[in-house]
Amino acid sequence: MKHPKEERTYIMVKPDGVKRGLTGEIIRRIEQRGLKVIALAMEKPSRDKFDGHYPKDPKWITRLGEKTLATYAKYGFDAKKELGTDRAEEIGPMVRGWLLDFMTSGPVVKMIIEGVHAVDMVRKISGDTTPASAPMGTIRGDFSVDSPASANRDKRAVHNLVHASETPEEAEHEIKYWFTVKEIHDYKRSEEDTMF
Ligand code: ADP
Repeated sequence: MKHPKEERTYIMVKPDGVKRGLTGEIIRRIEQRGLKVIALAMEKPSRDKFDGHYPKDPKWITRLGEKTLATYAKYGFDAKKELGTDRAEEIGPMVRGWLLDFMTSGPVVKMIIEGVHAVDMVRKISGDTTPASAPMGTIRGDFSVDSPASANRDKRAVHNLVHASETPEEAEHEIKYWFTVKEIHDYKRSEEDTMF
C-alpha cells in the first residue's frame, strides 16, 4: 500500500491564470504547503483534448446548470429570460460548451502535485468553484470575484484560475490523460526530513 505522502493530484492553471501572470503565485502557494511539483508543462491543448478531459456524464453536466441556477436564485436573476430555460439539464450543456471555449482561449500550465492528502489539499488551496463565494486565503477567493450569474449573462464559463482533481480516482485518470510516465519526476524535497 502506498504511503499517504505519495498521494498525487492533477492541477492546471487555466488561461486566465496564465494571462494574469499568476502561475508563479499558484505554484508558490502549493509548494509553501509542503506539496511537491513532480511534473510541469505549458501547453495549448485542442478543443477535442478538453472535450475528453471534462466528463460527459449527464449528472456532472446537470450539476454545472445547478451552479448557474443557485447563483441566479441568490442574486434574483431570471434564468429563463437570460438563457431561454430554467432547467439545469439544459443549462449544463451550454455551460460545458462555454467551458471548452474558455479552456482553449490560451495556453494552460499543467502539473502533477505529490504530498500528504494532495487531492484534498490542492482543492482546499484552490477554493470553491465560484470565486465570489470562495474563502479569502484561497487562490480563487484572493484573485477573483467571478460568478456564474455574471459569466452566464456574457455567455461564458466562470474564470476561476485553476482546475484541480476532485477525488483520488479522478486524479489518477487525469494524470494519465495529461502526462506520460517519462514526464513525471522523482526527487526529495529537503523539508521531507523535518516536516514529516
Ligand atoms: P471545479 O472546477 O471546481 O471542479 P466543476 O467541475 O463543477 O468545478 O466545473 C468545471 C468548471 O466549469 C469550473 O471550474 C468553471 O470554470 C466552470 N463552471 C462550472 N459551473 C459553471 C457555471 N454554472 N457557469 C459557468 N461556468 C461554470
